[in-house]
Amino acid sequence: MDINGKKISIIGAVRSGVGAAKLAKKLGGLPFVSDLSEDEKIYAGIAALKAEGINFETGSHSDKVYDCELMVISPGVPSKSSVVQNALSKGIEVISELEFASWYCRGRIIAVTGTNGKTTTTSLCSYTLNNSGYKCYEAGNIGLAFSEIVLGVKENEYVALETSSFQLDHIKWFKPFISVIINITPDHLDRYDNKFENYVASKMNIVRNQDDLDFCIINCDDSRIPGLTNDKVNKICFSVNRRVQNGSFISDNQFQYSNDNNAEPICNADDLLIKGLHNKQNALAVLSAVKIVGCDNESIKKSFAYFPGVEHRLEFVRRLDSVEYINDSKATNVDSVWYALQSFKEPIYLILGGKDKGNDYSRIESLVKGNVKKIYAIGSSAGKIFEFFKNTVTTEIKSSLKDCVNSARSEAEPNSVVLLSPACASFDMFDNYEHRGKVFKQEVMSLN
Ligand code: ADP
Repeated sequence: MDINGKKISIIGAVRSGVGAAKLAKKLGGLPFVSDLSEDEKIYAGIAALKAEGINFETGSHSDKVYDCELMVISPGVPSKSSVVQNALSKGIEVISELEFASWYCRGRIIAVTGTNGKTTTTSLCSYTLNNSGYKCYEAGNIGLAFSEIVLGVKENEYVALETSSFQLDHIKWFKPFISVIINITPDHLDRYDNKFENYVASKMNIVRNQDDLDFCIINCDDSRIPGLTNDKVNKICFSVNRRVQNGSFISDNQFQYSNDNNAEPICNADDLLIKGLHNKQNALAVLSAVKIVGCDNESIKKSFAYFPGVEHRLEFVRRLDSVEYINDSKATNVDSVWYALQSFKEPIYLILGGKDKGNDYSRIESLVKGNVKKIYAIGSSAGKIFEFFKNTVTTEIKSSLKDCVNSARSEAEPNSVVLLSPACASFDMFDNYEHRGKVFKQEVMSLN
């Protein structure tokens, strides 16, 4: 779409909004950025807009935001917000930043969605492609906004895009060459009228515009992923449990890839450096994607063996007196804690808690009973956690992460694991999950 000389309103002045505004300006459009907030989180964005000479307002949305031909919204802006609803009622087209950037992408898009595993899968995918002689950028919720990088992407290059449901809520023509749906479990339901089916529908938008030259890679072990309504796209499956006709699976402890029932082993499943069953699923999704692109088996094997994982996802921090300390601060829902707990054979001292998003802990109750020696509960959900687990395992409420780490240091027995995998958001005590993970690592590194 030619936006030259057109007024574009952009809602949100953080990463995606600033990226979209810069892109609009480069393309000759007339961007105007509006953010309800005035606090610290937008300072860097405002500085970038000033440096670019882009008009903006903060603290409220004035009527000026509706004086436009197109509205681009950041993922943090809910569809129900009055600014979106007002724009729609005035007949203004409202799209997500991802949709906007995709209009100008000359390369091929590999879009990864799912409740958990998006960052890891996106990152392993680009790592493997770049190690196999292809050029692949990483963007979306990971690293830079798609709008920031899109004009630099050439025709024969790839973009691995971490794609959240919020970005998929407002797409129009977004059409990835490969879409990946890793899993769907309840999360973010507050943004979807507490209806799981609305959240699922949003994720499934990823395949909406794909055609018979495109591929959709699906976890066929996940019964919550519905059947595809798009019957043109080539459906590729992955499974940790069974052989598949077209796609990737684990059999005889080998990662295998099958094209029309002709399966070939790629590498031993234990060669994958990142731990846990969930990471095997993520790697299977990547295996299908990179085989479709054309990567050779040797490069895939090496990439799987060397990919170090992503910070704050089951990240190894330190081994001290035969106790391992693991930072899984990004585990902000119960399902990711379930996968963390089954990733270790050793007894676990588990740090749980933070800002609760309506968690149902029964999903991890039996794993806690079997694998966890003690729970340290922190944050605003500490009371709820204590009540839920007090009859299952020793549970203690702590006032800080430092307290948890110090107690674990004196209590954890040799050959056990101290695991921060909180199942909750971090905002009650920290700026974000990265901040929480960094504080944990600092406390662990200062132990002696
Ligand atoms: P996302 O970007 O979707 O939040 P991440 O790769 O950042 O996913 O991982 C988030 C959390 O979920 C981490 O605790 C990680 O260990 C866990 N996780 C990663 N992959 C999966 C998966 N396939 N299924 C369930 N949990 C996963």
